[in-house]
Amino acid sequence: TTPLLKVDDLRVRFRTMGPLKALAKGVPDPYIDAVCGVSFDISEGETLGLVGESGSGKSTIARAIMGLVPAESGSVSFAGTDLTALSPRRFAPYRRDMAMMFQDPVGSLSPRLTVRSLITEPFRIHGTGDRDLDGEARRLLKMVGLNEDFARRFPHQLSGGQARRVGVARALALNPKLIIADEPTAGLDVSVQGEILNLFARLQDELGLAILIITHNLNVVRHITDRMAIMYLGRFVEQGPTEEVFYTPRHPYTEALLSANPEPDPDAVLDRIAISGEVPSLMNRPSGCEFHTRCLYAQAKCRTEAPALTEAGESHSFTCHYPLTVAHTGRTKAAS
Ligand code: ATP
Ligand code: MG
Repeated sequence: TTPLLKVDDLRVRFRTMGPLKALAKGVPDPYIDAVCGVSFDISEGETLGLVGESGSGKSTIARAIMGLVPAESGSVSFAGTDLTALSPRRFAPYRRDMAMMFQDPVGSLSPRLTVRSLITEPFRIHGTGDRDLDGEARRLLKMVGLNEDFARRFPHQLSGGQARRVGVARALALNPKLIIADEPTAGLDVSVQGEILNLFARLQDELGLAILIITHNLNVVRHITDRMAIMYLGRFVEQGPTEEVFYTPRHPYTEALLSANPEPDPDAVLDRIAISGEVPSLMNRPSGCEFHTRCLYAQAKCRTEAPALTEAGESHSFTCHYPLTVAHTGRTKAAS
C-alpha cells in the first residue's frame, strides 16, 4: 500500500550569504545543506516523532513537506503524488490534507484576530468561507476541549495550553489527514504538557490522524509516537519503532540522547545530553562519520569513511560503523 507521506532522499539547501559577500569573504560555497538526504514514510493514522539537537534540520523538513521551502533534490509524496513537482496552484489542495502547527504557537497567532477568526481562517483561505463559521468555530473548539466562550477571546487572553489548543483547532479545521506539529509542548508546564499529549492521543484515536511531531521532549515521543527518527546535522542517524529504539538503540548518538538524566523539566532533556564537544557547523562538516568528533566509540575508520545505512530489523535502520549491540544497550535507561 502507498504510504500517506513518503519523503525520499530529501535535500534542502540554504544560501548563507549573498554572492557579493561570499566573493569578498573568499567563501567559494556559501551554502549549507540543512537537510541532507532524508527518507521516511508515514502511514495513515501513524505518528512519527522527530528528535535532534537545535539546528539539526527538524523544522526545515516540516517546511519542505508543506512546500514552504523548496527541495534541492529528492521528493515528498502525499498519497502517491510528488508534491515537489507541483506548481503552487496545484499544490494548494494538499494544504488541506496536511496542516502545520508552527513552533512558537502564540507568536504564530495574529494578535488582532479573535479565536473565532483564527480557527475559521482556513475556510476563508480555501474559499469555503460561506459556510456557518460560528457553527464551525463551536465544533472545532469542542474538539480541542475549549468551551464556546473562547471564540470571542484574543490570543493575549489565552494561557500557553489554551493557545496550543487553538493552534490544534485551526489545524483541524479542514479535516486534514496529516498534522505536522513543531514543538507542540515546548514551554508548557508539565501538567499542561500532559493535557496536550492527551489531546493528541484522542485525535489519533477519534480521527485516525497521521502526525509528524517534532519535539525535544522524549516523554512525548515515548507516549504518543509509533516510530521515531533521530537527526544529526541534517541526516537521520537512526529511525525505527519507538519502543525498539528506546530499548535497543544502535547508534551512539541515540544512546546519548536517551540516557540523559531525567530532568524536572522534560523539555530540557536534550539540552543536557552528556556528549562532549560542540555541534559541528554545517559550513564545515566533519569527514567520515559526521558524529565521530563527539562519539565515545569512534575509531580510525570513522574519521575517513561515511557509514552506510544498515537495517537493524523491520523498519529499524541506522548509520554507524560500530553500532551498539543489543546486549550492550541493556543499560540504557530512557528518561521517564
Ligand atoms: P530547533 O530545535 O532549534 O528548532 P531545528 O532542528 O528545527 O532546530 P532548523 O530550523 O531546521 O533546525 O535549521 C537547520 C539549519 O538550517 C540551521 O543551521 C538554521 O540556521 C538553517 N536555516 C533554517 N532556515 C534557514 C533559512 N531560511 N536560511 C538560511 N538558513 C536557514
Ligand atoms: Mg525547529
